[in-house]
Amino acid sequence: KKILVVFGTRPEAIKVAPLIQKLKKDTAFDVKICNTGQHKEMLDQVLDFFDLVCDYRLNIMTENQTLYSITEKIINKMKDVLEDYNPDYVFVHGDTSTTMAASLASFYHGSKICHIEAGLRTSDLRNPFPEEANRRITSVLTNIHFSPTESSKNNLLRENINPDTIIVTGNTVIDALFFGIEKVQSDESLVFDLKSKLLKDKEIVLITCHRRENHGEGILNVCKAIKELALKNTDYQFVFPVHLNPKILKIVHQELEGISNVILIEPLNYPNFIWLMNEAKIIVTDSGGVQEEAPSLGKPVIVVRDETERPEAVEAGTVKLVGSNTDLIIKEVQHLIDDKESYLKMSNAHNPYGDGKAVERIISFMKTIS
Ligand code: UDP
Repeated sequence: KKILVVFGTRPEAIKVAPLIQKLKKDTAFDVKICNTGQHKEMLDQVLDFFDLVCDYRLNIMTENQTLYSITEKIINKMKDVLEDYNPDYVFVHGDTSTTMAASLASFYHGSKICHIEAGLRTSDLRNPFPEEANRRITSVLTNIHFSPTESSKNNLLRENINPDTIIVTGNTVIDALFFGIEKVQSDESLVFDLKSKLLKDKEIVLITCHRRENHGEGILNVCKAIKELALKNTDYQFVFPVHLNPKILKIVHQELEGISNVILIEPLNYPNFIWLMNEAKIIVTDSGGVQEEAPSLGKPVIVVRDETERPEAVEAGTVKLVGSNTDLIIKEVQHLIDDKESYLKMSNAHNPYGDGKAVERIISFMKTIS
């Protein structure tokens, strides 16, 4: 079978990397990989870490790119790739413009579409924007839906998708995490620089915040909460890899620069980031991937979003959905710092996103179809 795997952003690359690694080793498949380059600067380090080399690079990123220009470029450039390789199956992942536009191009070409992380939903087509629409459009075009959980499968069933085409696998992010943690733990030189930036003998609260919903007031509220928590809890350090988007960067530096136990650093490459997650005591984030990864490392997650397409973790008790209200963030983080029992309850809860064998299940299924 000829398979093309397409991705364009950092989280997509992380989540398809373990699949590509295993597909490439399997003689049942002929595999090529296509990188649209939607997030250029954060992607190459992921590919290096997983030892992946792209067969096609679309390099679509330009300054001042818009949703219109990204979609248009991907569709047109994918046409050439599809005509050159003519894959039987195209794998896409998640909910980005790359996912949606590559699916549409593959549909036009006549290749079958396999969607990983299929079936995540919120109640509002515009929230998150444009991801919720991207994933719904992709589901309509997809032939095989690899859902991470039963609840994501149920979302697809509610949209009248044929149950025989939905396979529950767990999330491939856990497969990537297990591979990654083992690799960084066996080679500490990978995290040498990062270690030197941290304060000695202080517990870590790790913060990430970048989503469009949090631009403006959201990020400002998060920073205010971190400031107050840092001033109050001097035995903790608050480590914040700050996204390069100027809308985030400016506010974070304005609010948090100069506080001795707040460490502002650049976005970390994947090995550094997962190492830091593993070292942290508590994680405050609006990231989807981090909500899925952190519970596997036993780390409680405070989610600074109002709604999540990942309700399983909230139900399992590994994640608390707090929104971007300053007082609530302070209250929940302080509670985890002060109350050992609540902390242990959250950190010991079961991770609903998988056991690190999602890729195995995807490949087994691919072998059963023609
Ligand atoms: N991540 C990383 N460096 C960072 C922050 C996150 O490598 O500084 C990784 C993290 O381990 C996870 C993924 O990037 O696998 C999450 O990406 P992001 O938060 O950008 O997107 P989302 O998951 O919200 O789509």
